[in-house]
Amino acid sequence: MNRITLYTLICLLPFFYINKISAHKKSDKEIKFLTYYEIHNFNKTPRYNQTVEFCKLIANNSTMVNYTSIGISPQKREIPLIILDKDGLTDPKEIRNRGRAIVLVQASIHAGEPDGKDAGLMLIRDIAIDSLYLDIIQNVSLLFIPIINTDGHEDFGTHYRINQNGPEEVGSRFTANRLNMNRDFIKADALETRAFLNLYHRWLPELFIDIHVTNGADFQYVTTYGLDHCGFLSDPMHKWSKEIYEKNLLSKMERSGYPIFPYLEYTSYQDSTSLLLPSNFAPQYSNGYASANNRLGLLVENHIYKPYKERVTAAYNIIINSMEIIGNNKESLFKSINETDNFVASHHFINDSLALSYKHNIDSITYVDFLAWKTKTEISELSGAQWSYSDREAPVTYSMPIVTSYIPQLKIKLPKAYIIPKENFETIELLKLHGIDFCYIPNDTILSVETYRFINPKWSQQPYEGRITLNTEYTQQIEKVRLSKGDIMVKTDQPKIKIVAHMLEPKSPTSLVYWGFFNSYVAPPTEFWIRLNYMEVKGRELLEKDPKLKEEFERKKMEDANFASNPKAILQYFMDIVRSNIEIDANRYPIFRLM
Ligand SMILES: [Zn+2]
Repeated sequence: MNRITLYTLICLLPFFYINKISAHKKSDKEIKFLTYYEIHNFNKTPRYNQTVEFCKLIANNSTMVNYTSIGISPQKREIPLIILDKDGLTDPKEIRNRGRAIVLVQASIHAGEPDGKDAGLMLIRDIAIDSLYLDIIQNVSLLFIPIINTDGHEDFGTHYRINQNGPEEVGSRFTANRLNMNRDFIKADALETRAFLNLYHRWLPELFIDIHVTNGADFQYVTTYGLDHCGFLSDPMHKWSKEIYEKNLLSKMERSGYPIFPYLEYTSYQDSTSLLLPSNFAPQYSNGYASANNRLGLLVENHIYKPYKERVTAAYNIIINSMEIIGNNKESLFKSINETDNFVASHHFINDSLALSYKHNIDSITYVDFLAWKTKTEISELSGAQWSYSDREAPVTYSMPIVTSYIPQLKIKLPKAYIIPKENFETIELLKLHGIDFCYIPNDTILSVETYRFINPKWSQQPYEGRITLNTEYTQQIEKVRLSKGDIMVKTDQPKIKIVAHMLEPKSPTSLVYWGFFNSYVAPPTEFWIRLNYMEVKGRELLEKDPKLKEEFERKKMEDANFASNPKAILQYFMDIVRSNIEIDANRYPIFRLM
């Protein structure tokens, strides 16, 4: 039996639990705790109210499960959270005192992709009611958000994701404010993102899993995944991620009958044998955000063409297998996290350059077996065009080149500290939300700092995620700036410094400058219009007050006859002096680097 035949057979096998409940007459207890998805033939997903009801049902019938909320959505829905801990604990410190690691699973960030919700509800029932996996939860506790995008979830119907193979009806990709939360982890425009960040930094889970569904290229894998391999996650955590978590997850998923493959792009979608480019995720994305916090972040991308039941089962396996790996290896994981936090906060890290973006290193490739479909091409009866599609009756294994490393694209040198004048309250609120440490400047003072001055600003013609984004060049210089008591100093010797740099370095692809937070600083702030003719008055006043200026003005007239004989040039000379005093802050980024 070759690998493909084996794989196809395994995929057809119903999942363990589903097999269990259909193999015998269901008991009253089993019926009481069936999920909506199970009752509805594995192709319907529960609405928000039904989901919350089920969470409460489990919580009311188990000492291990607590139901709570992480915040309120713009349409005033509680965002549900289940905390599953063997001893029913709900405090991260107490849980870690018992030696347990914490896994956070988030579903329905794109509410049309509810696979993780139905998988997680079944899993929590299986643990809390049916006492499965009790060995695993000795070592690990689970936080589960079944629906993070609650409002988008209730924008429900058959009109979204029409190419998705179930469930019958789903919610929308966006929040009620039309934001895509999975671009929002740094700027945190959505209330839902803010609720998430509060939870994330209170718990700092060892592993965060975010479950999606993807379309695009067709292949046999039910699930693809994203883990950082470019450098947003530093060593030794990256090493742990690769050698322990990823390696074990790949083999466990293979054994579960759901082999997984990196989430990727082809260099050419027309040619399924072209170069495979695994995606990398900067910190505006969920898993990239975890990486930049020195924690594991797993992106799960189920494949849109696979039946819903297969996708939910794959997601279920991803979660429980991950919990087992984290629990079994918790001591080395705790150690790696601790060492990574210390390393990132050290002088070695600060003195090295920090990469804020990466590109694929196409000189570094290896060949892998890729489980694809044969492509069929025919003349379409519908349109008359030549039409290519995957023949899902014809599995094929291609040996394909995959890129295995990345090159830093944008590097910066970290300062000793960033200084933020207190009027930048939006930025300061975001620092708090991201759990960044900072202190206040105790007295009014003048400091010599490195500043950026914007040049060649280019704004987007269309809003992106509701914002007019800004790409700008800048000059860097040392200047003396006046600071006042209560301004903010963010020292760079802290474990979350990568988040700080991604927010505050203007060139970062997800900087607050890029998102338009500082658009008002990019044009000259002309206070009022002054007639050139007024310099007849102001010029005399300046010369009278400043003997040095008078001396310079007289010399200029002697040395430059054109100037001396040009009344307009003389008045402009005084106008330039006046303007340079008014516009001292023009185009200056109001966040400074203490070197
Ligand atoms: Zn998605």
